[in-house]
Amino acid sequence: MSKAPTAPELADGVLAGSRAHIARSITMVESKKPAHREIAHELLRLLAPHTGGAVRVGISGVPGAGKSTFINAMGSRLVTEHGYKLAVLAVDPSSSRTGGSILGDRTRMGELAMLDNTFIRPSPSGNHLGGVARATREAMVICEAAGYGAVFVETVGVGQSEIAVSEMVDTFLMLHAANTGDSLQGIKRGILELADVIAVNKADGANAAPARVAARELRMALKLVAGESRIPAEVLTCSSTTGEGLDEVWKAIVEHRQMLEDSGSLVARRRRQQRQWLWSLVRNEVLTLLENDPEVKAVADRVEDELDGESTNAMDAANAILSAFADRAVLLKA
Ligand code: GDP
Repeated sequence: MSKAPTAPELADGVLAGSRAHIARSITMVESKKPAHREIAHELLRLLAPHTGGAVRVGISGVPGAGKSTFINAMGSRLVTEHGYKLAVLAVDPSSSRTGGSILGDRTRMGELAMLDNTFIRPSPSGNHLGGVARATREAMVICEAAGYGAVFVETVGVGQSEIAVSEMVDTFLMLHAANTGDSLQGIKRGILELADVIAVNKADGANAAPARVAARELRMALKLVAGESRIPAEVLTCSSTTGEGLDEVWKAIVEHRQMLEDSGSLVARRRRQQRQWLWSLVRNEVLTLLENDPEVKAVADRVEDELDGESTNAMDAANAILSAFADRAVLLKA
């Protein structure tokens, strides 16, 4: 490929399923450079008619719950036994490519990474969740257009990243390790509310019986949080190391999606997600423009100093930045 691929070149390669083009395209959507953003926008427009068909699954769980072992085992099954092409992406705002990336690392999913019909991509780096989530969502569009019929989006069981992932997938799977003591401790109510399917993992050996108890307790807890407005998540047990229960977990995921489709909720869910995406794009672009414009930045630096020196207050300082931004936006448009 030439040094600066055009959007139509990238789109053709992605539609043909070329891994090099997929990787290059994802690099474009992850880039903050304005020239790359432009190519990314055009690329996504070209790919849009070819997207929307994949089974999109979010997978969350605290570190150690067994996410990579599960994705490796489940993914290998889907690819080798069910004929899926599978993309594995991640949203982890704390990860960085260079220092101790914990997600998407190919070595964590060795068996899966060896298979032809899989594409594994670590979380884009960056501390800003909005930017990381945007890039992952756009990477998902690229993988779908490339013919990946299943997309897993992995995230760690902390903070806002679950919400961001739930806003881009059809089914949200929460993995819970059976051997972490009190089954309900450490599970935030908010995450229980997001989950569509819960799998109590590591249900093998001496853990098999405690896992079943944990599953029962979770079912009861879910009835309480679900109320009348929502079908409680299905709770299953599985072992990612023996493979027991994995088929049932996949069945629950597929059935959940089918239920969404049959009831018309899938369309409603995706429309809602489009709106969420729209606003996160606006927020991101505004922030990027704000932070990258030299004149706005000069005003920002000045008022930050003034704020330190107590010669202004936060509200006046914010107004100064916003009005500099508004002036620039008008100038840029002219
Ligand atoms: P992650 O941090 O959520 O990605 O968790 P890992 O997949 O790295 O798993 C953490 C540890 O749990 C590893 O030592 C795994 O071998 C182990 N593990 C994962 N799944 C299972 C399982 O189903 N059964 C058992 N016995 N151990 C598991």
